Amino acid sequence: MAAPLKKKSFKSLPVQNKRVLVRVDYNVPFDKNGNVSDDSRLRGSLPTLQYLIDQKAKVILCAHLGRPKGQPNPKYSLKPVVKPLSDLLKRPVAFADDCVGSKAADAVSKMKPGDVLLLENLRFHAEEEKNDPEFGKQLASLADYFVQDAFGAVHRAHASTAQVPPFLPSGAGDLLEKELNFLQKIKADPVRPYMVVLGGAKVSDKLGVVKAFIKQVDTLFIGGAMAYTFLKAQGKEVGDSRIEPDFIDLSKEILSEAAKRKISLILPQDHLIVQDIEKPETAKTTDGDTIPAGWKGVDIGPKTLAALQPMLKKAKTVFWNGPAGIFEMPAYSKGTNGIAVALSQSAKEGAMVVVGGGDSVAAVTQAGLAKDMTFISTGGGASLEFLEGIELPGVKALPDA
Ligand code: ADP
Ligand code: MG
Repeated sequence: MAAPLKKKSFKSLPVQNKRVLVRVDYNVPFDKNGNVSDDSRLRGSLPTLQYLIDQKAKVILCAHLGRPKGQPNPKYSLKPVVKPLSDLLKRPVAFADDCVGSKAADAVSKMKPGDVLLLENLRFHAEEEKNDPEFGKQLASLADYFVQDAFGAVHRAHASTAQVPPFLPSGAGDLLEKELNFLQKIKADPVRPYMVVLGGAKVSDKLGVVKAFIKQVDTLFIGGAMAYTFLKAQGKEVGDSRIEPDFIDLSKEILSEAAKRKISLILPQDHLIVQDIEKPETAKTTDGDTIPAGWKGVDIGPKTLAALQPMLKKAKTVFWNGPAGIFEMPAYSKGTNGIAVALSQSAKEGAMVVVGGGDSVAAVTQAGLAKDMTFISTGGGASLEFLEGIELPGVKALPDA
C-alpha cells in the first residue's frame, strides 16, 4: 500500500464557533455572459465547507482568479462566484471587497457560527505571489484556524499557500487529502500495467514529468503537439507542425533513456493534418507518421487511436494529462474523445483512471464522461509536479499528522 498522507487533517482542529480561513481553488472559467461555465472546482470544495458549516465554524474563503498582476481589477473579481457557490451550498454566501485590511476584518466581525464569507481575489495584492510572510500574517489575523484545500494552487509558493500555516494551527482539507491520496497511490504503488497518456501544447511544460514517468510507467504514449518535437528528434518530417526546436536534444535523450529501460514510449503512427487550421473541411489523414511540408498535425490519426484502445483497456492504472489534438475544434477532437471513451470503459472495468490538467478535464467533461473516471484531479500543474516528485510548497507548509 502507498504510504498514507502524513499531513494533519482539518478534522482534528476544534473549529466549533471559531473563525476558519479556508484556501480554496476557485480559479474557474467564465462564459461570455460572465457566468461560471464549469463549476467543478466549486463542487470540489463542498465536502470541506459542509463539514465546517456542520461544525458551526465561521467559514472564511480565500482564493485567486486569473492573473490580475497584483492590482485590483474588476475583470478578475471573485464576486460572480458568490451566486453559484451559494446555490450549491443552499445558503447565503457573503462577500468582502478585499481579502485583507479593514474591509475583510469588518465582514468577518459580522459572521455568526455556520456563516460563509468569500474574500476578494488574493492576487489583487502583489504580496500574494511574492510569497510575502507579512501578507500571510495579515490573512492569518482574520481567523483562528487555517485549512488548505486548494490542491490546484499548492504547487505555488505564494503567501496564501506557504505563509499562512506558520501563523495559525492548520490542517489539510478533504479535497487536498483526496487528491494527494490518489496521486500517492499512483506514484508509489500503481497496479500494473501502468500507462500514462500525455498530450497538450508544449514539451517544455512537461519535459520534467516525462523524465520522471519513464522511470515509473510500463507504457507512455505521447500525443498532442508534444509528439511532433519527439518525432522530429527521431529524424521524422513533421511539416509545419508546432515544435520546440530547443527541446529536440532533450527529447532525444528521453527516447534513448526509455529504450534503455525497455519502457514502451509510443508516438503517433498517423496524424490528422491541415494546411490552414481554420479550414477543418480540408483536413486529411496521413498514411504514416511523417507530415509533408506545408501541413500541420492537429490530432492523432485513426490508426494511432485504434492501437491505443487495447493498451488502455489492458492497463490497470492510467494517468492522463493533455489532449491529443486541438480538441477545442470539433473536427480535431476525435483522438481526444476516443481516448476519453476508452478510459471510461477501462475505469468501468475496474482500472484506476485519473485525469489531471485543465484542458484534458474540460475534454472529458464536455464528452459527458467525467463521472465514469476513478478520479478527476482539480489541479493540472500540481498533479504533474507531485508525480514528478517535486515537493509542493503548500503541502510542505502544513503540519504533519
Ligand atoms: P492540460 O490543460 O490538459 O494540461 P495543455 O494546457 O498542456 O493541457 O494543452 C492543451 C492545449 O494543447 C489545447 O489548447 C490544445 O488545443 C493544444 N494542442 C493539442 N494538440 C495540439 C496540436 N496538435 N497542435 C497545436 N495545439 C495542440
Ligand atoms: Mg491547459
